[in-house]
Amino acid sequence: MKDAIVATLRQNRDLSDDELRELIGTDRHDAALIRAADEVRREHYGDAVYLRGLIEITSYCKNNCLYCGLRAGNRRAERYRLSREEILACCEEGYALGYRTFVLQGGEDPAFTDDLICELVAQIKRAHPDCAVTLSLGEKPRESYERYFTAGADRYLLRHETADPAHYAKLHPAEMRFENRRRCLYDLKEIGYQVGAGFMVGSPYQTTDHLIADLRFLQELQPDMIGIGPYLTHRDTPFHDKENGSLALSLRMLAILRLMFPYALLPSTTALGTVDPAGRELGLKAGGNVVMPNLSPVGVRKKYAIYDNKICTGEESAQCRDCLERRVRSAGYRIVTDRGDVKRTRGRG
Ligand code: SAH
Ligand code: SF4
Repeated sequence: MKDAIVATLRQNRDLSDDELRELIGTDRHDAALIRAADEVRREHYGDAVYLRGLIEITSYCKNNCLYCGLRAGNRRAERYRLSREEILACCEEGYALGYRTFVLQGGEDPAFTDDLICELVAQIKRAHPDCAVTLSLGEKPRESYERYFTAGADRYLLRHETADPAHYAKLHPAEMRFENRRRCLYDLKEIGYQVGAGFMVGSPYQTTDHLIADLRFLQELQPDMIGIGPYLTHRDTPFHDKENGSLALSLRMLAILRLMFPYALLPSTTALGTVDPAGRELGLKAGGNVVMPNLSPVGVRKKYAIYDNKICTGEESAQCRDCLERRVRSAGYRIVTDRGDVKRTRGRG
């Protein structure tokens, strides 16, 4: 049984807005969509799943995104910052476990000055020249991004969150603007980073048309990585009474992304694993080809609470890696430990 819309998306890597509305707005195409996404991922990446070691370097944040538990206005959040020695020790441990990409993520913490970030990146690259360093530290001036790149950073993750400026304004305080987010992403790309954008699925007030705008924005930006996951509520935010995003819609969007961006690196995220115990395995089967096990020191993991009930906060790094390896294998894929750079040169297709 052939599904015409799915076949068109696979063939053209694109659909009209009306066709996308049909695909996103119903569950009728899910089975065909997910089957096609898996075939396309296997054509381009085989059964490989790339590992990224995630180090959550600070839970301080000066911003006030309405959805996030680390927002500055959350007085109940527990704050920590890792020292340079602690971060380097996480990389050391990760290297021994086979990681060749380290992702330094955190809130926008002014204590992590540009000088400090550059020193950190340079030290990690000196200790592990065969590794990629990814930063995910939020919005910065272009000059800062340039300095981190010169210091050796290879990739930068900055989800655009939503490409509809009016929707963006409902999720963020007035001082945060979609225009600045976009500026950051284009600066990062021009500087030469491998860039990751992305959005939350089922965030408050999100409509199907917002999701279509997200896909159009990504088509324009052509990022190397696209991180999506369900929105999940945190009890100490203004959105405490909003509903979580759904597993089904998250998987559907992941599969659509795989067909639109066959070469993209698409993580099967912790948020997917939080919304459903089998979420990350299902994410891999829907086109995901990256997993990001936690390398943060166990003592701080619960404090990096961007949403409630976050998984993987109790285990040692080695256990986390083994657990994910088993999950990847059970889903029918294989963890590879090279750097896992994107398999394309820039440009459409
Ligand atoms: N401060 C940086 C990195 C940390 S937040 C930044 O904002 O880019 C990393 C990602 O977590 C965000 O991009 C957002 O998409 C996601 N996130 C935040 N709160 C969330 C929530 N309540 N549910 C699901 N994802 C969330
Ligand atoms: Fe800070 Fe990022 Fe959370 Fe926004 S999403 S409050 S920038 S940590």
